[in-house]
Amino acid sequence: MIQHFTPDFASLEDVKVSRLEKQEIMDAFSSLDERLVHAKDGKEAIAIVKEYFALSDDLSSAISLIYIRHQVDTQDEYYKELSDLIDEIMPEISAVTNQFDKDFYESPFRKELVEEFGQLYFDQVALSMKTFSEEIIPDLVEENKLVSEYIQVISSALIEFKGEKYSIPQMGKFTNSLDRETRLEASKKVWGFYADNDEKIGGLYSKMVEVRTRIAHKLGYKNFLQLAYDRMGRLDWTPEDAKVYREKILKYIVPLSNSIFAAQKERLGFGKDTRSSDFAIFYSTGNPTPKGTPEELVSAAKQMYSELSPIASKYFNFMVDHKCLDLVAKKGKAGGGFMDYIPGLKTSFIFANFNGTSGDVDTLTHEFGHALQGFLGGEMTNVPSYRTPGMECAEMHSMSMEFFTYPWMNLFFKEDTDKYCYQHLCDALTFIPYGCIIDAFQAYVYENPTLTHEERKAYWRQLEKQYLPHKDYWDNPFLESGGYWMRQHHVFENPLYYLDYTIAQVVALEFFAESREDEKKAFEKYIAFDKLGGRYSFRELLKTAGIKNPMDGDTLKEVASSTMDYLKQFDPAKLDK
Ligand SMILES: [Zn+2]
Repeated sequence: MIQHFTPDFASLEDVKVSRLEKQEIMDAFSSLDERLVHAKDGKEAIAIVKEYFALSDDLSSAISLIYIRHQVDTQDEYYKELSDLIDEIMPEISAVTNQFDKDFYESPFRKELVEEFGQLYFDQVALSMKTFSEEIIPDLVEENKLVSEYIQVISSALIEFKGEKYSIPQMGKFTNSLDRETRLEASKKVWGFYADNDEKIGGLYSKMVEVRTRIAHKLGYKNFLQLAYDRMGRLDWTPEDAKVYREKILKYIVPLSNSIFAAQKERLGFGKDTRSSDFAIFYSTGNPTPKGTPEELVSAAKQMYSELSPIASKYFNFMVDHKCLDLVAKKGKAGGGFMDYIPGLKTSFIFANFNGTSGDVDTLTHEFGHALQGFLGGEMTNVPSYRTPGMECAEMHSMSMEFFTYPWMNLFFKEDTDKYCYQHLCDALTFIPYGCIIDAFQAYVYENPTLTHEERKAYWRQLEKQYLPHKDYWDNPFLESGGYWMRQHHVFENPLYYLDYTIAQVVALEFFAESREDEKKAFEKYIAFDKLGGRYSFRELLKTAGIKNPMDGDTLKEVASSTMDYLKQFDPAKLDK
């Protein structure tokens, strides 16, 4: 049987995970499927589906815990083996659970099942069935292989710098260096790597576009664009909506972002000699940093959440007390940061690598925004896919929390508080045009699948000139030829996903404006939104939560103007002292 988890643990570290036995797991799901097919009435079918959800929760809890343990200590042999095992056995297990979904969809007791679980669940199952057929299995294998090859090319990069060899992420500390010579040299090296691999990466991307287009044709789509939307479960918005939204970004957000970049250029003071890589530096005096040890930052966060709201405080303290936060970088620990919800334990978990930058504080706000939604969504429903909203909404919870916590940033940044808030808000705004062209680029590529690599690059450069006109690549012919997108791994790994971040960013700015009017009321609205989880599709969810859709009406215009009002209180030149 699959290991059963219960929420009565004292410390997450002590929860043991047993080995996954493929055959037992498959048998368990198959026997539920068998019973569902032979159910006598709606009541029995409902009970079986509930068992299926509980079983799925146990399996996904085991998978989450294995993944977490492996990330926390990549040297641990037991969890490394279990983690490899998951990759090996999941395709076969998915085949059985897909069959269950299919039989659920075709059940003669649909009326009763819809009454119990809602129409949305059927719509979700229908959409995932539409994006798959036996015929495309070899193409899917090829697609995954190409993605792995891209990851391999990027992650195996070793860049020689000042007598040592570094990976691309490791070069980050040099490309962001306050020392200009280091920064420009490091940046030249990193882009040199992409220039050297231009043909290779471009060739991989061409093959990806080709195989994705082929899959789309086999499934009866005109091109890959709509299929990408269907794969992501976008039930009620279309590539056309995205197009209109991108035009509004150009109209309302780009002028603001241009003014932010112009002020930045002025502060840096390099005049005509400014290089695109200088924009990595926001203040000539360096970035704001949190003051204090990781323990002090956590206790500041405890104080912050206790003053913000009893609900936030309750769950943050729970995570601290039950050791559901692993924040400090250590030997053998994987890089990056994430939040994961473990349904069987009814808890969220946060993984991070504190490194003394403002990103440490972002973890305590952003990832906790995800975590809080996990807790509240988990309490509201037993249907796994209803706990958290779709991909376009998931980041709304986390990005909004970054803004709700502004009044407490002095606990972390002391004398750097204004410096932090101004930069954080500017970054939020200037990100939107960038996220927008990552989307525009891909939409164009998949609508015109026969373009050459050079034509794609030219189109990218054209988009940059429109949306990010401050980018002047007079010193870098590779970037001038339109190669920047090749470093954005989402373009390769998660086609057409990136726009979601910009949508979430706009919603976060809406919450920010409301919190400045009435913080308590805005936070109550946010908690209610958390609790709705994923029980509605995108448009319905926003409507139910009382959030204006970033794509509709004048939302972007209003958000731009309220954000600008707030930004006006800062004198960035003064902050840069
Ligand atoms: Zn996030």
